[in-house]
Amino acid sequence: MGESVTLMGWVHRRRDHGGLIFVDLRDREGIVQIVFGPEHGRDAYERARRLRSEYVIAVRGQVRRRPAGTENLQLKTGEVEVPVIDAVVLNEARTPVFPLDEERPVSEELRLTYRYLDLRRPSVQGTLRIRHRTYQVVRAFFDQHGFIEVETPVLTRATPEGARDYLVPARIYPGQFFALPQSPQLFKQLLMVAGLDRYFQIVKCFRDEDLRADRQPEFTQIDVEMSFVDREDVLTLMEELIAVLFREVNEIELDRPFPRLPYQEAVATYGLDNPDTRFEMFLVDISDLCAGTSFRPLAEAIARGGHVKGIKVKGEAGAFSRKAIDDLTEYVKGYGAKGLSPFRMTKEGLQSPVAKHLGADALQGIVHRFDLEDGDVVLVIGDNPMVVAEALGRLRVKLGRELGLIEETLVRPVWITDFPLVQYSEEEKRFVAVHHPFTAPVDEDLPLFDSAPERMRAKAYDLVINGQEVGGGSIRIHQRDVQSRMFATLGLAEAEGKEKFGFLLEALDFGTPPHGGIAFGFDRLVMLLTGAESIREVIAFPKTQRAQCLMTGAPAALDPRQLKELHLKLDVT
Ligand code: ASP
Repeated sequence: MGESVTLMGWVHRRRDHGGLIFVDLRDREGIVQIVFGPEHGRDAYERARRLRSEYVIAVRGQVRRRPAGTENLQLKTGEVEVPVIDAVVLNEARTPVFPLDEERPVSEELRLTYRYLDLRRPSVQGTLRIRHRTYQVVRAFFDQHGFIEVETPVLTRATPEGARDYLVPARIYPGQFFALPQSPQLFKQLLMVAGLDRYFQIVKCFRDEDLRADRQPEFTQIDVEMSFVDREDVLTLMEELIAVLFREVNEIELDRPFPRLPYQEAVATYGLDNPDTRFEMFLVDISDLCAGTSFRPLAEAIARGGHVKGIKVKGEAGAFSRKAIDDLTEYVKGYGAKGLSPFRMTKEGLQSPVAKHLGADALQGIVHRFDLEDGDVVLVIGDNPMVVAEALGRLRVKLGRELGLIEETLVRPVWITDFPLVQYSEEEKRFVAVHHPFTAPVDEDLPLFDSAPERMRAKAYDLVINGQEVGGGSIRIHQRDVQSRMFATLGLAEAEGKEKFGFLLEALDFGTPPHGGIAFGFDRLVMLLTGAESIREVIAFPKTQRAQCLMTGAPAALDPRQLKELHLKLDVT
């Protein structure tokens, strides 16, 4: 109050009250009301008549209390205003393409095309500030724990995260290409070989993946690697990082240690390896009850080595109409299930369209196993184990959301451990690494390399929070012979392994310490910390779901001279 100030910013709103003109002046800190009147400054008042939204101005005046009764308690500065003595228009502005006052929804396409206008909106700036805060907390944490931040190359060779590479033609080496890193995986391992001991980096990664909702072709990771550690060392320190982040950024205290759930158990209980553990509705196995009954679809699924499992929807929530059950059936068909059998508990007993085929014993068994009460519904799928798990797992999450079973304010982290080392790819007709080819097998599973690689477990772990995978990593292979056996299992001939990752294999011969690490999806973490609904909300200049930048128009065609310089001929139809 009483201080003389010079304020600069944007005209957010202007109200002409005849003798007085009120302007909400905006900058990144918020809004303040300034008042133009002939008695404060005549020239300034004249200028104010021509002000429009988003003009950039500078004004001088003295802060004063607003007249009694005119305060605006919604505004942080709502008790004061600045009568303007002097004003300068620093720049004019076209009428914004969409209103910046947040009241009306604006199409995302327009927002992304004019992202610099969109970014003027306080809520969008608020998200970027939380993102900024997150960087600072992460850097301080790693610095305090003796980690060294090292930058790794962006122009490099293909890295093995299993997605398609973005490629950059090498002008001075016709026909040769750099790849943009899918992650700094090999470099961080080499930093361990180099004796850096503890490394981290907040780093851009690039993956040319098939377009899926909520992916970005370039995204940010918190990338970490540590030497002389085992799995528990990594998990313990990293859950401390996550706890510090939620405390510092969100004022939420997380319980530690985070639960650790082996992959097999996660899939058995939740159907998915990224379980949302904020609510129960566990998958329950009833294969034994349905085996040998005359209900063919379930009995046959079991005979073929499949499973029959169900989830229970309690009371009221499960009052599905016939149409609702049809819709849920369509939904699980999208995940490969052939059908969905509903059972409803009533005063007269368990009812179902398939009841008579199952027989009284099976029905009674189901009532017991699910501990059913009047009104509860059980939804059952029988199929091969992967289909049952995925279809029921997805259905569980869908119902959890739609029936309001999830306490939205909860933050529930869980480590998923003991992933399979490899899985068979029908498409490629060979084993592929579930994490990546440098992930170490669990020691006691080493003998299975020769007999049953698909049964080997990896020293790999994912951090899942509220059903979102936010990070993943592993203890690495640090012995040359184990790495060679891994390549052989993946069908990478020694020569091919050498050609692609020879520098790493060679490095393993020069005294590599045991090491392991992890990478967190930084954008995903910020989504959780801000409650943003889409990954595009937490990135300053994101690409669309179709991997385009609407603002710059990238990707774009090259002119023929550039193509020639790069020794490229197009074959585009
Ligand atoms: N490079 C891995 C990834 O990007 C993470 C890790 O293993 O540290 O998923």
